[in-house]
Amino acid sequence: MPVSGAAARILVVEDEPVINQAVTDRLRGSGYDVVQAWDGPGAVARFADTAPDLVLLDVMLPGFDGHEVCRRIQAGRPVPVLMLTARDDEADILVGLGIGADDYLTKPFRMRELVARVAALLRRVDRAAELAGRATTDLGDLRVDAAARRVWVTGTEVHLTPTEFDLLLYLAGNPGVVLTREKMYAEVWGWPGASGTRTVDSHVKALRAKIGADRVRTVHGVGYALEPGGAT
Ligand code: CA
Repeated sequence: MPVSGAAARILVVEDEPVINQAVTDRLRGSGYDVVQAWDGPGAVARFADTAPDLVLLDVMLPGFDGHEVCRRIQAGRPVPVLMLTARDDEADILVGLGIGADDYLTKPFRMRELVARVAALLRRVDRAAELAGRATTDLGDLRVDAAARRVWVTGTEVHLTPTEFDLLLYLAGNPGVVLTREKMYAEVWGWPGASGTRTVDSHVKALRAKIGADRVRTVHGVGYALEPGGAT
């Protein structure tokens, strides 16, 4: 069940009718309000009409693909996106993450895992709202405003995706501490599964590109740490 009172609305985008309906039925059985789309243009239109809380998005779609759908809907307002992909290669995942997807599941997936990932992503959104009460954090020349969800590097504002921001907030809450990929995935994505470690790597890569590569230190074979003083 959704954690935030009223049933969360989920947009399911999948061109394979059997999979679309099976996913929809399962999510409705778990108490969610589900709306459906079967192609790229339809997904963008449904998103605008129904204002879902989360989007389940197949990559290969008629019209235009899931990456383009993700880019278009994220341009309007940030929304958690769980990508469904048939290809488990790194390039595909990176492209997906680069346009604002929060997590991915490789087909074939278990319905139980899909429902658990959806619940975890929605919990994360709730937790992010709670964290909004936190004060601004200054780490050297890096400033993180948790309430406004804004970030500045040497006085210049940097625009992060919701996932990049949550990741930075977690790192900034533990400056200088080496955090394992498993712990980061459990804490930021809210889903303690080792399968998410590559998701963490991809998002750290995207975050580094925006805030400066040397601010996030790689501890080989262990994980990552935010440099407490920031870089110059
Ligand atoms: Ca497809």
